[in-house]
Amino acid sequence: MTQTNTRREVEPAKRNLLNMLPSAAEQVLRDFAVEHGEKPFRGSQVVRHLWQNPAPGFSAMTDLPAAFRGLLDEHFTIPRLTVATRQTSSDGTEKFLFRLEDGEFIETVAIPEGSRLTLCISSQAGCALQCAFCATGAMGFTRNLQMFEIAAQVREMRLLDPPTQVTNIVFMGMGEPLMNWKAVDPALTVLNSPAGLGIGARHITVSTVGVLPGIVALGERGEQFRLAISIHAPNDELRQSLMPINTKYPLADVIEAGKVFDRRVTFEYVMLGGVNDAAEHASQLAALARECRAFVNLIPLHPGGAGDFTPSSPEQIHWFARRLRAAGVEVAVRKSRGMDISAACGQLRVERQRRRTPVGADDDGNVQVA
Ligand code: SAH
Repeated sequence: MTQTNTRREVEPAKRNLLNMLPSAAEQVLRDFAVEHGEKPFRGSQVVRHLWQNPAPGFSAMTDLPAAFRGLLDEHFTIPRLTVATRQTSSDGTEKFLFRLEDGEFIETVAIPEGSRLTLCISSQAGCALQCAFCATGAMGFTRNLQMFEIAAQVREMRLLDPPTQVTNIVFMGMGEPLMNWKAVDPALTVLNSPAGLGIGARHITVSTVGVLPGIVALGERGEQFRLAISIHAPNDELRQSLMPINTKYPLADVIEAGKVFDRRVTFEYVMLGGVNDAAEHASQLAALARECRAFVNLIPLHPGGAGDFTPSSPEQIHWFARRLRAAGVEVAVRKSRGMDISAACGQLRVERQRRRTPVGADDDGNVQVA
């Protein structure tokens, strides 16, 4: 017998209660309570402290007997994400850099707007896709996040003092969510279910470059989760030069996937001065949007991403929007938020790790579909 096995027999690995669906955690905890001479409802009490009314640790679950809390601590974990940096913009946007258990960093951005608070969450540490203007792409891919690391970004907001109540979620932080479907799929359940974080499916948007198997998998879920597709260029030649993934998932296929998706999709279009903001681009984009019946979001380029791009001027963006509207397309011009704290995708981590050599991209084609 190896040493590791011997060790395991003496000290079994603690189970991470946050990395299972709340329904599974409830079953495990009710059984555990009974095994240890407690009533099953004690297990259900613990589940409420995982997501709904999160506790920082077992010792804070003061509605439970102290001895039972001690037992829980011996058998289970409820890991925290550590806030490494927290920055507040003059416009109220807050940016968090979280350190994970293995020392990796991810970013989460909280964007208040009226009565809403949108949390922009990460699905991977780094990203393999290398979109030309994106800071995360420039740092390369490190690893997929686990299910609990995705949902815990929201949990941590509820653990702040004072707590922040998140109303909307967008998967627009670091990474490509549909290349980590194995973890994003159950994370959507945790974010949405009443036993989890209880955020309405229509308030949760998954943003993708157009990973086709992932779009199909998202569409097959019964809930009304929203889909945003990063288009950024209205023809293959230009899209290819900005988004290398276009080789694998060309525009025509992405548009077709958007068309058959059973809910209305949003197109994301970053405005790059002199690159994708001319009249011909507007008419090409309008045709694609009409084909898909998509809503178009025009996003001002956040400076400090990657590459040598200039943002389109506000006048150019509004002119472009008017052309789309005239062609019968619904369009919104997004406000740039958190400009003074580099709140665009990947920027905080880049600032912190400037001297680290970026990890090279790998397995672009490795699409995980459950
Ligand atoms: N991989 C997914 C989700 C993460 S990026 C996707 O690409 O959709 C979220 C959005 O931010 C994408 O539309 C992306 O193109 C955009 N983005 C990246 N860098 C940006 C920058 N510097 N300025 C504005 N938007 C940016």
